[in-house]
Amino acid sequence: MKMRVLGLLCVLCVLLVRAHALDREAFTFTSYDLDVHIESDQQRLAVRGRITLRNDSTSSQRNLTLQISSSLDWRSIQLDGKPVQFISQPYTSDLDHTGALSEAIVTLPREVSAKGIVELEIGYEGIIPLDATRLTRIGLPEERARHSDWDQIGKSFTAVRGIGYVAWYPVATESANLSEGNSVFETVARWKARELQAAMKIKLSYSGEGAQAVPLCNGDAGGVRSFKQSGQGYESVNECAFPFLGETVPLFVIGPYETLGQAPVNIYYLPEHRAAAQTYEVAAQVAAPFVTEWLGAPKGRAEVRAEVVELSDPEAAPYESGSMLLTPLNSDSKLAQLAAVHQLTHAAFFSPRPWIYEGLAHFAQAVYRERESGRQAALDFMGLHRTALAQAEKVLAEEHGQKTGAGEALISTSIEDLYRSKAMYVWWMLRDLIGEDALKKALAAYRADADTTPAYLQHVIQAQTKRDLGWFFDDWVYRDRGLPDLHLAAIYPWEPSRKAYVVTVTVENLGDAGAEVPVVLKMEQGQITQRLLVRGRSKATTRIEAISIPREIVLNDGSVPESNMRNNVYRIEEPAKRN
Ligand SMILES: [Zn+2]
Repeated sequence: MKMRVLGLLCVLCVLLVRAHALDREAFTFTSYDLDVHIESDQQRLAVRGRITLRNDSTSSQRNLTLQISSSLDWRSIQLDGKPVQFISQPYTSDLDHTGALSEAIVTLPREVSAKGIVELEIGYEGIIPLDATRLTRIGLPEERARHSDWDQIGKSFTAVRGIGYVAWYPVATESANLSEGNSVFETVARWKARELQAAMKIKLSYSGEGAQAVPLCNGDAGGVRSFKQSGQGYESVNECAFPFLGETVPLFVIGPYETLGQAPVNIYYLPEHRAAAQTYEVAAQVAAPFVTEWLGAPKGRAEVRAEVVELSDPEAAPYESGSMLLTPLNSDSKLAQLAAVHQLTHAAFFSPRPWIYEGLAHFAQAVYRERESGRQAALDFMGLHRTALAQAEKVLAEEHGQKTGAGEALISTSIEDLYRSKAMYVWWMLRDLIGEDALKKALAAYRADADTTPAYLQHVIQAQTKRDLGWFFDDWVYRDRGLPDLHLAAIYPWEPSRKAYVVTVTVENLGDAGAEVPVVLKMEQGQITQRLLVRGRSKATTRIEAISIPREIVLNDGSVPESNMRNNVYRIEEPAKRN
């Protein structure tokens, strides 16, 4: 009997703790000042520093949460020079490559009221080895997983990305799981949204043996790089500041880098790959005039200078944050030009909205392909994104029970397939709608700091064209209406007079998003393209006059992303004669 009462009490205790429990996202981390020391021979990282947190919840908080990678351990947490009480526990979350976090649950000596500030001195350390657990446990083959989650502190090469990859600085979020839809994307996006204004200062020091290594990071490098011999090895230091984090994911890379400091891109390469680095440099110089023509010269502010940093794994998946690109270097100059176009676009044009910032950079690549090899080559390039996009939209439609407009609006989405691939198509369709000159003028008039209301960009574009774009922004940007599903509903070819042909084409859109779609009439000789606006859930008809015998209608050349591209071709039989 006694046992049972005790048991019941314990259950109550647990419930009480849970009830008070933890609002893991109550605090915003407003500033970090971290001394990060790396010993590559041991794969070790040791951090001492100071963080400031603000209670952004509506109630007072007695507890707060600090999370770091599960391969790191908390050493000390102090407030006003005195240790605070905390318990450390593993917390399963795919925000970290290990699939778990070391979570410190801190009990403060007194409550922090809403909007109250608390400043802590912290210390933690441990190792950061290569670890692809979160990917292999959802079934990705080990080999592929390692080229994707390539973060590690290694003997000869180190590269470690922040939130979403390795929690090498403290964060605090609810758990996220890669097997649950978009939960990792969404959790990272929620964190970034809270941390937009956070300031971070990193003193990155490194000691090792062997070849002299250069520590790099993606903030404003202070340029205070010192280097000193110590015993067998040496120590080097870099200071790195982020006045505000914005969308940037803080990262550091350490390797025996050499640099080609030529404009327009700063390239850090590993000594054995000088030739590939030069290929990239030339590619950037070839691509630069194109980007300047579209967007003006790179602005040249320190924080937007384009940088390429080589990854030592030749199969590593490239990664970009801000205008720094981490990538293996190869000697394909066409690929290098495309990569350079993307980066130079970032350097020349900033927007706080991911669909504008990233979408435009992918769009610029497509236009560059078009300039080099024609429209079809550009459509093929965009086509590489189409399947992933259609799949992402399908998953969203299922998650949201197919409710129109309930999905992820492009303007606020954190899903990469949308703010990259879908956004690229949206820019391409915008150019088809209003023409290249009008779009260039609109981009020249765009001001990142003025983009504070959802309709800002639409107004900027609308000022350059007579076309009403309200429906387009509504269907593609402000709401997620999924993708159009266009098909040829009726085709009526006839021959009103000798050697004159007319084909009447009716297109139906079974999807909710409207589009102005190219309709191509292929004739015995040559072809004619007309554009036809078909709103969501409706039909539209056009007449195409042919100058030789009509043979085939092809709907959508690939410039409009569709959920189903398989019903878009129609072979025309003999046209009906007049009378
Ligand atoms: Zn980008």
